[in-house]
Amino acid sequence: MVDARFAMPVEQLVQLEDRESGLSGVIAIHSTALGPAAGGCRFWRYPDADAVAADAVRLAEGMSYKNAMAGLPFGGGKAVLRLPEGPFDRDALFRAFGRAVRALEGRYVTAEDVGTRVRDMEVIADETRHVAGRTARPGLAGGDPSPWTALGVFEAMAVAARRSLGADLSELTVAVQGTGNVGGILCRMLADAGARLVLADVDPERRERLAAIHGARVVDVAEIATAEAEIFAPCALGGALDAATVAAMPAKLVCGAANNQLATPDVAALLVDRGITYVPDYVANAGGIINVSAEYLGESSLDVEARVMAIGPRVATILDQADREGVSPALVADRMAREIIASAKRL
Ligand code: NAD
Repeated sequence: MVDARFAMPVEQLVQLEDRESGLSGVIAIHSTALGPAAGGCRFWRYPDADAVAADAVRLAEGMSYKNAMAGLPFGGGKAVLRLPEGPFDRDALFRAFGRAVRALEGRYVTAEDVGTRVRDMEVIADETRHVAGRTARPGLAGGDPSPWTALGVFEAMAVAARRSLGADLSELTVAVQGTGNVGGILCRMLADAGARLVLADVDPERRERLAAIHGARVVDVAEIATAEAEIFAPCALGGALDAATVAAMPAKLVCGAANNQLATPDVAALLVDRGITYVPDYVANAGGIINVSAEYLGESSLDVEARVMAIGPRVATILDQADREGVSPALVADRMAREIIASAKRL
């Protein structure tokens, strides 16, 4: 179907309403050309139903591209649930959501996203097997995806730094915005690799703890994008790169874990104009979904590692192509992802 409100094709938009549990939201299935639509379940406050649907459609399309570029046998989907205003029974709500996922008979596979956690996935698993991000089982993929996401970002950054800055990470300073699950691990990896760090986080405890460990410099959150550094790593929320930020940023390479780093699509061209190399967010941060998909398929951590280590060479291919054409790597990655999905559809 095509939802006219977003002028963006989605295969299916499933409305979720369950008065008894308070469940309210949507499941957006953007594409199943490559396999079941896989993407996490976001549980957040939204002003109205339109905002929920818009976010779900946008995120589901992003998952199609991310899964395609990571070489996974999955399409793209996303669930967005509204956090109820008043008190609610969390388990009952996620059981109701689990029944909705079950009704899709494997067309959509869910996992954690902003606002959901492992325990919620365990509750969903009581209702459907089309869920990942559960407690890790020995020898098999699963558990916290953040270390895999951080490893993928690290590999992407190392390759991009050598290619675009002609330097090893040990010779460079990286400004990390957000030192949470992924950003924190990335900081440790960068410090181990000999990189200098500048950090910012809205949470004072997190940033001070990391700064103490690595001897990094801590700056105010408003100053991290303009801090003296060769690399900027957005690892907090989306929209870190807008026109004003790009104009003022001293870094010549952007590579981080955050989803949707470009506040608007036209920022990609502004980065090119300023000679800043941008590693497309969904290519760099695919480690998490790689881990989640391996868990769903019953694969091992070795399978996950092999796929995450392929992120670096993939980034090199994208940057080479972007350079040859004189366009943004974001444009090249989107085009590659659409081609992978289109050829699967043709088959
Ligand atoms: P997290 O919540 O653990 O960490 C985010 C950190 O950013 C927190 O410490 C928070 O205090 C900080 N923060 C928020 N606003 C900030 C601001 N304006 N300036 C500086 N710091 C700020 O989340 P996470 O799991 O580490 O994920 C980080 C980003 O990576 C998110 O955008 C997420 O969608 C994306 N991502 C995560 C994974 C994963 O495996 N966890 C996978 C793919 C993408």
